[in-house]
Amino acid sequence: ATNNPEFIWFNGELKPWQEAQVHVLTHAIHYGSSVFEGIRVYDTPNGPQVFRLKEHVQRLFDSAKIYRMEVPFDFQTISDACKQAVAANGLASAYLRPIAFYGNVGLGLTPPRVPVDVAIAAFQWGAYLGEEGLENGVDVCVTSWNRLAPNTMPTGAKAGGNYLSSQLISMEAKRHGYHEGIAMDINGMISEGAGENLFIIRDNVIFTPPLSGCILPGITRNTAITLAKKFGYEVREELIARESLYLADEIFMTGTAAEIVPVRSVDQIAVGSGKKGEITDKMQKAFFGLFDGSTTDEWGWLEPVNS
Ligand code: PMP
Repeated sequence: ATNNPEFIWFNGELKPWQEAQVHVLTHAIHYGSSVFEGIRVYDTPNGPQVFRLKEHVQRLFDSAKIYRMEVPFDFQTISDACKQAVAANGLASAYLRPIAFYGNVGLGLTPPRVPVDVAIAAFQWGAYLGEEGLENGVDVCVTSWNRLAPNTMPTGAKAGGNYLSSQLISMEAKRHGYHEGIAMDINGMISEGAGENLFIIRDNVIFTPPLSGCILPGITRNTAITLAKKFGYEVREELIARESLYLADEIFMTGTAAEIVPVRSVDQIAVGSGKKGEITDKMQKAFFGLFDGSTTDEWGWLEPVNS
């Protein structure tokens, strides 16, 4: 890959890319025993800024707590390390990938709580569902796979193993020619995309599935809710039936990698006019405006890399 960063933060030190390695018997490779984050850094008029770093680091610690994993660095160290990983590579914008995992702890299924390895990589990553998707919308399908059921594997933790579910959803969607797949939860209600939360708009009301154990509590989801409420829209976090996808005026998905992306069709049924909707456009402008300065960051969501 051409996108490899020169340095990766690994267990407290910046290491050259080729030295940030793990063994083939790494516990996390065999059992998915890792927790991780995806964080974006934007190139703003005030220099590179990390978006909602606190919330992402908190979610990393929350995910670890669910799995009784002891992260051997404190909140501040991880936060600073995220910035170091960006700065060390001279990146103006970046995608950050902090990960805590069980490494060389043997292959017993129940991991000891320590040692835990922590790595943070920063690299460039463009629009996850394409620049064109951001403008014209993406085509999605409802996948045949259900999202993880509550009390099977916690979707509230951003854990490595969960992404086998996301891979099945996304691979099936792509195999059938769609950009992304949306999964129903175990009760047949809408949960989320493979790596995005979902918003549905009908008659100017914005609906999104609740935090009821079937979705990741997305930080972009929270951002979108906050911005929508500021615009005065009614936002309802409630269970949504599948047919709402087909009757929506507008649909958009949110995620750190995906950002705010319009959905133009679901199962080959056009969403509204089949183009980016008015409210979605407003949401996108407000969101991306945070990074060019046209939206005032009244929430303290941006943190400079070089502080
Ligand atoms: N759901 C899943 C399954 C995800 O992987 C992601 C991406 N982290 C999201 C939702 C969106 O979360 P966030 O906005 O915090 O990136």
